[in-house]
Amino acid sequence: MLGIVVRPGLGFAVVCLALVTGVNASTIAQGDRFRKCWEAKVPGHYGKVFIREDPGYNDRMTRNYEPDPTKAPFAFVDCENEFAVQAAIRCAAENGLQVCPRSGGHSRIGSSMCDGVVLEMGLIGHLQVSENASKASVGPGLTNGVGIYHLLKNYSRLIPVGKCASVALGGYILGGGLSEFSDKLGFACDNLVSVSGVDGMGNIVHASQTVNQDLFWAACGGGAGQFMAFFNYTLNTAVSTVYDNFVGFRYRTPIENVPQVLHWYFGFTDQEASNVQLRLRLVIKGSTNKGNNSEYMDLAGACYATSDTAQCRDLMVAKGFNSSMWNERIFMPGYTAMDLIKFYAESEMFTDEKALLEHGMLYVEGSSSRDNVRVTALGFRYQGNGSIPTQPPIDYFVNYIQQSQTDCNMTGLRKCITIFQALGSGITSISENSTALYGLRLSTHWISIRIEARLTYENASSDSLIRHQSYLAAESMGNFVNYQDDTLGSSYPEAYYGPGYTRLQSVKALFDPWNIFLSSQPVTLPPSSLLRRSLNVFPMERSGYEDEPFFWKRYSSFPQVQPRLDFSSMELDY
Ligand SMILES: Cc1cc2nc3c(=O)[nH]c(=O)nc-3n(C[C@H](O)[C@H](O)[C@H](O)COP(=O)(O)OP(=O)(O)OC[C@H]3O[C@@H](n4cnc5c(N)ncnc54)[C@H](O)[C@@H]3O)c2cc1C
Repeated sequence: MLGIVVRPGLGFAVVCLALVTGVNASTIAQGDRFRKCWEAKVPGHYGKVFIREDPGYNDRMTRNYEPDPTKAPFAFVDCENEFAVQAAIRCAAENGLQVCPRSGGHSRIGSSMCDGVVLEMGLIGHLQVSENASKASVGPGLTNGVGIYHLLKNYSRLIPVGKCASVALGGYILGGGLSEFSDKLGFACDNLVSVSGVDGMGNIVHASQTVNQDLFWAACGGGAGQFMAFFNYTLNTAVSTVYDNFVGFRYRTPIENVPQVLHWYFGFTDQEASNVQLRLRLVIKGSTNKGNNSEYMDLAGACYATSDTAQCRDLMVAKGFNSSMWNERIFMPGYTAMDLIKFYAESEMFTDEKALLEHGMLYVEGSSSRDNVRVTALGFRYQGNGSIPTQPPIDYFVNYIQQSQTDCNMTGLRKCITIFQALGSGITSISENSTALYGLRLSTHWISIRIEARLTYENASSDSLIRHQSYLAAESMGNFVNYQDDTLGSSYPEAYYGPGYTRLQSVKALFDPWNIFLSSQPVTLPPSSLLRRSLNVFPMERSGYEDEPFFWKRYSSFPQVQPRLDFSSMELDY
């Protein structure tokens, strides 16, 4: 049997490898079939297939921020353009395999690494801007760092990027994309004009407000790895010059002041109108490795549209900021939006703006043994006894801090950090039904909790994260899907999508009826779609592009691979 399935001329080597690695012969045969299928469908070889015994396979195993060592992908496919993606999906389906897209590998729970075929979308990293730069088309592999650097530097435009330069826009946008700029500019996905991707049947599909509206709705907060491998996102960009003048500040206060500070902050709701942005970071336990075990709260923020430090101080005081409670660490004017991005990033790597490019790398350094870290983020809205959101009383925060302190001092835990960000009208003025992002639209604040435990205390961080969430449960409006949280168990559909989940299931049935996309926290097919699945038909084309003739023409032949970065001002062709 083995002799029949191995490749001629390589028989001995492949059989030996199979015995040594435990990869069985039928897997190798399936791998060969998959590779041949892909190469036949992509004559230009826009990429490459790596099956388990190939050099390069192990290297790709480590390209995740939080790699999941229990996953053993059948193959990785480097996809340099959408046709490579199409072929990979079709060949996976023909060989009974499932797929998962990976762009920057920053999933918090390693969900871009699956046991099926990993579609390496990170190689599609173009940036094109429209003639007046009011729109930008980006590939999924373009990182927050590289994207924002070129938008700012060349066009004085921005999109609401997060401060981690190496997060790719591919996953970031689909899960929402929360930024320090979101007060005014909304989630990154609120700026989407259109998306293009390959569906679970291998067809290229375009979605916007007028075409495939349900898919477009889903792409904002519900689309990551569920039913489509997106290869282009077109977004509105904002003029960055409004951020050119700012005063940035950082303060620290001891733990005993924190309940009062939080009480003040949760009453401070009109920051977008008053041009002040504030974020709070509560540290109950710092890294013991660094000898930092104290408890404190940091405040970081900026006054916009002024470089006048006195004016900024006055504005803060007018907003009830009590400087006597704080130890000032930085209070400095800035004169470019690039400086503001660097200031928010708080990181050494941003001291030189070129570092945005160097560190805006596609993947973080490979690592397969990260610490025992669990992260979640939730939408918060305090209602007291009524339905109108109000400012929680000081006692509410006294209780939270006490519970968190008790928890974080349990054996095995070494870091407990909670971040608070008020959500401005950029997010909350958009109806909760207009995108798949649900709970955060109804919230007043975003709260992220990060718990780290020593490696030997296997469940300590997840147990603590569950308890921390329970302290806030009565005010929680659900979880933020970009901070995927595997402690949610079977409640993740409700937590991420609220009542929108059934609509997402319909989108799944339409664009991935054979459940080709494999996800750690899947949007499952609705029961009514099971009949369609059993038909076992594999359509090679989807009609319905009549209203987008230009788009359809664009993809009727194999174009040259897009250069990774293309800064020439040109008309959008997506
Ligand atoms: C250090 C760090 C900082 C972060 N900061 C922020 C922040 O400030 N704001 C914020 O909102 N989020 C933040 N995140 C969360 C981050 O945005 C999400 O984890 C995001 O999904 C990462 O995208 P990626 O492409 O880098 O990751 P990947 O791991 O490649 O992908 C994440 C998910 O998206 C899917 N996916 C990826 N590409 C595609 C595609 N082309 N088509 C369809 N599905 C795709 C994957 O299958 C997977 O399910 C941060 C994460 C980390 C680790």
